[in-house]
Amino acid sequence: MPPKVLYEKDGKKFLAKPGQDLHTQFGYVRKEDLKKAKSGSVIKSHKGHDFTIFDASFIDLYHRMKRDAQIIPLKDIGFIISETGINKKSKIVDAGAGSGAMCCFLAMIAKEVTTYDIREDFINIVKHNILLLGIKNIKIKNKNIYEGIDEKNIDLVALDLPEPWNAVKSAAIALKPGGFLVSYSPTIPQVMDFVEGVKKDDRLIFLKAAEIAEKEWDVDGRKVRPKSQTIGHSGFISIVRKIKN
Ligand code: SAH
Repeated sequence: MPPKVLYEKDGKKFLAKPGQDLHTQFGYVRKEDLKKAKSGSVIKSHKGHDFTIFDASFIDLYHRMKRDAQIIPLKDIGFIISETGINKKSKIVDAGAGSGAMCCFLAMIAKEVTTYDIREDFINIVKHNILLLGIKNIKIKNKNIYEGIDEKNIDLVALDLPEPWNAVKSAAIALKPGGFLVSYSPTIPQVMDFVEGVKKDDRLIFLKAAEIAEKEWDVDGRKVRPKSQTIGHSGFISIVRKIKN
């Protein structure tokens, strides 16, 4: 049985793991009932509370990933995917793996992703998350990306590292002409040093640096206004392209 999503009528969402009862504040749902429930049907807790149920999709499981390192938010992943146009033919190198949020999302879209991280404890979290999401096209390397990238002919090198400028030269070698180098950093001095490093390398061209703002709104009848609590600053995204060997 795949994991199931249960929605309570007020919009509360629960994820039921295979072979386990689901405990909620509205009572528990028996594993036998979860197993036989049809997708899109209504299921009851032992207290008679109704839920609708369906098979969990990638994004439901993604929200349940284990996190330790600060993960890149979805709004920023979306920007990276759309600006670089990566697709099912793309080969990607990602570093550092962190909790694996970025590499798992990219792997869902691309042909293959190789992710580097220097910390074994983070690599174990990534392995856990890859299993949760059932991803098969990620290779993990316990290596320092500043010392080089083994892969060649890469379509995208995506960096989320404290010192991304140290990976510029290796990325320029690993990328194919036309490939993209993207760096995600929380602070402006990191952007400055990264872009300066890029500008010293004539194989690369700096395209843009951007900050993506997501503003969520409450919609309740005619009370429609920006949510009072929104996500604050996450990071800046610098986009670079390799134009020649
Ligand atoms: N993008 C990740 C979060 C990355 S956090 C996500 O979405 O989940 C930054 C990671 O970079 C940390 O796990 C850290 O161990 C790793 N790191 C730092 N320096 C590194 C280096 N030189 N080579 C490889 N990984 C590195």
